[in-house]
Amino acid sequence: MAEVKLTNLTKAYGAATVIPDLDLTIRNGSFTVLVGPSGCGKSTLLRMIAGLEEVTAGSITIGGEDVTNMQPSERGIAMVFQSYALYPHMSVRQNIGFGLKLAKLPKEEIAKRVEEAAEILQLGKYLEYKPKQLSGGQRQRVAIGRSIVRKPKVFLFDEPLSNLDAALRAQMRVELAELHSQLDATMVYVTHDQVEAMTMADQIVIMKDGVIQQKGRPMELYNNPQNPFVAGFIGSPKMNLIKGGVAIARSASILGIRPEHIDVSPDAGEWKGRLRYVEHLGSDTVAYVDGEDTGSITVRLNGEVAIDAGETVFMTPRAGNIHLFHPDGQVERA
Ligand code: ADP
Ligand code: MG
Repeated sequence: MAEVKLTNLTKAYGAATVIPDLDLTIRNGSFTVLVGPSGCGKSTLLRMIAGLEEVTAGSITIGGEDVTNMQPSERGIAMVFQSYALYPHMSVRQNIGFGLKLAKLPKEEIAKRVEEAAEILQLGKYLEYKPKQLSGGQRQRVAIGRSIVRKPKVFLFDEPLSNLDAALRAQMRVELAELHSQLDATMVYVTHDQVEAMTMADQIVIMKDGVIQQKGRPMELYNNPQNPFVAGFIGSPKMNLIKGGVAIARSASILGIRPEHIDVSPDAGEWKGRLRYVEHLGSDTVAYVDGEDTGSITVRLNGEVAIDAGETVFMTPRAGNIHLFHPDGQVERA
């Protein structure tokens, strides 16, 4: 396993600069998630690490070795994509071992590695199955198996769960996190889904327009977002970002408060509003409020709360959970 280091990494397509100048260290054994909106340059960055995309400037090292100009096959990486093209006529065993066969490894070694990978991925029973006999999640595990048998220094994943339904995605998140701790591998994982980032990463890197907005542990980003973009990106429902009088009263340009950090009362509180719509989820009650001074606010209350659209409510942001974003870029908790 190995550390990945990107230094002054730049990518331009003609006149369009997609990644201006990026520095990032992914420590040995880390599960780093690159997250950001569609088009922000995540895949481009991952493909440069893989060697599938030329760099315009800067350098990449893997395990201390400069791989910037190396072929993908020389870098010791394995990549898993969203669309996992398995060979339909081959069995699971043949699909997983195919790369090793091409690399002309001895038969016994291939068999051993395939069986180890199948064991880790709980595919042991399915080794003689064809892909069409498998579920979507099992197929994605076969694709991951193909990368495991190569014993790469670094695993690269590009939105591998995007094609799966919500329940399966949730299950695969847990499986991938467990796989990471089992293999003790360095993994770089690209997604636009902040939930995947929050649940799997030990380091989240949030990107916008090819620029890193913030990096850190999931709860660091949740608790201390450095700018309104990060504040709005991490957390669901999204943090309320309030402009105007309420923010100006505290000398800030934007006041941020998460839906789960607002208390609601029928008769007294800091901000008055009218319930526009209420979602009763059982575990939570999510209220959308038109605030007199705040504009639209989302509030998340624990459990079932008997409130309904049309009612007047008073909202109070909890002390210590208010994020003040100042015009000069300073951020403060209040
Ligand atoms: P993401 O994976 O974050 O959705 P990408 O890395 O795929 O984003 O793309 C980042 C930007 O680079 C986009 O604006 C995209 O249009 C542009 N881009 C990607 N590949 C090419 C290419 N081969 N030629 C020109 N522009 C490209
Ligand atoms: Mg992409």
